[in-house]
Amino acid sequence: MAITTTSKLPIQINATQLLINNEWVDSTSGGTFATINPATGEVICQVAEADAADVERAVKAARTAFNRGEWSTMLPSERGKLLYKLADLIEAHADELAQLETLDNGKPLKDSSQIDLPLTIACYRYYAGWADKIQGKTIPIDGSFFSYTRHEPIGVIGQIIPWNFPILLQAWKLAPALAAGNTVVLKPSTHTPLTALRVGELIVEAGFPPGVVNLVPGYGSTAGIAIARHGDIDKVAFTGSTEVGHLIMEATTQSNLKRVTLELGGKSPNIIFADADMNAAIEGAHFALFFNQGQCCTAGSRLFVEEKCYDEFVAKSVERARRRIVGNPFDPKTEQGPQVSQAQLDKVMRYIESGMREGATLLCGGHTIGARGFFIQPTVFANVQDQMKIAQEEIFGPVMSILKFKDLDEVIKRANATMYGLAAGVWTRDISKAMAIANNVRAGTIWVNCYDALAPAAPFGGFKQSGIGRELGEYGLKEYTEVKTVTIKL
Ligand code: NAD
Repeated sequence: MAITTTSKLPIQINATQLLINNEWVDSTSGGTFATINPATGEVICQVAEADAADVERAVKAARTAFNRGEWSTMLPSERGKLLYKLADLIEAHADELAQLETLDNGKPLKDSSQIDLPLTIACYRYYAGWADKIQGKTIPIDGSFFSYTRHEPIGVIGQIIPWNFPILLQAWKLAPALAAGNTVVLKPSTHTPLTALRVGELIVEAGFPPGVVNLVPGYGSTAGIAIARHGDIDKVAFTGSTEVGHLIMEATTQSNLKRVTLELGGKSPNIIFADADMNAAIEGAHFALFFNQGQCCTAGSRLFVEEKCYDEFVAKSVERARRRIVGNPFDPKTEQGPQVSQAQLDKVMRYIESGMREGATLLCGGHTIGARGFFIQPTVFANVQDQMKIAQEEIFGPVMSILKFKDLDEVIKRANATMYGLAAGVWTRDISKAMAIANNVRAGTIWVNCYDALAPAAPFGGFKQSGIGRELGEYGLKEYTEVKTVTIKL
């Protein structure tokens, strides 16, 4: 099957440089990198490539802005107003930003416009509301004292984000950091820098003071590691793979012991009991795995199905996967676009080969599609065993692995037998089973009879090697403040 895509750019792209101190500048080296349209494999445009020298410039701008105090001591409600203004500008440009995201990342326009953009806008608005509600406590200590806490901004924050939800994860990072009064140096992924930079233009247009937000697209091994190692960055917030999370952690301990929060990978169990609403569970498990081309940190990629309903569930899931519409991401009917890059496509294909080699039963898919772009067929494996590579490692592609279980205790044990702990799902009509999973599966988020239900107010993050700290909600905001205790002798 061939997929029809077009080489014509749907929108004009202006923001392709670094944003430092509210100015658009070339990189110090003059170097650029190409960002690729995953639907065609063609170059969209060249983008200025930041390296350590540019991170240095950006940190200086962020430090100067922080020390100037214009941002951190601005009336909190004024800081909130600027974040609301940014949300309004993003909303006003939502169609354009959704197209840009689809062009750069390959995700269906339907998803960019109905999921990524609304969640992005909601995130900025949510934290805009927090800007004047960041408050400490009064502490009744023994003796004649008045003791209270202040929640102060940490300072200069380095932020590193991946390519799977570029504009949304930029919002998850920028919104709480800015609401709390920090200044920021953010590095988008080289695969998907374009929406981050376009939002940079809107940040300048909204009237954020110079140096508050600095954007340095570049490679992890140069710009990324320079952020992690920088002695004048007070905290690094990273989203990406567990492997790179380890490197970030190492770099921070070797420099200035900066604060660190990590949002890392997952291999999330999604557990289907025979008493579940079967149609809802089949559609829910399909979404949990295939959404965003399978490129979700939360992907329900260990799909445990109770023995009693296993055969029916597998047959219907295969039938659903065969019906999944893969195609041009700009076509409104498309459910699945291309993987983000040739390297990701190759990696996913290696996992499919390993699944076959290790004896899992391939029931549908298993091949790439067309000669152009990075498309993979929705793929389903049954009879997957716990020790197989496809049940152990994060595939990050449209590959469903279905495992069989007998009872509750067994499935809890197996669900927990992983280094990850990002999320889990359970599908059942029995509240006791749902609660047993919710209480005993070690993961940062548990979804009951739903999956990937995310909201800016609900904290998100990982147990074990899926991360350190939380994003979103009040918990996510706390990660961007230092607590200061003030004690006054009365
Ligand atoms: P990645 O770890 O390869 O890269 C993430 C970011 O880190 C990119 O900006 C990259 O340039 C940078 N980077 C790479 N090497 C670096 C280094 N040595 N030092 C500093 N920075 C470096 O991950 P990816 O392939 O972009 O994204 C996919 C991964 O992200 C998956 O593992 C996924 O589970 C994870 N993820 C997690 C969450 C979450 O919230 N837990 C959300 C989305 C994605």
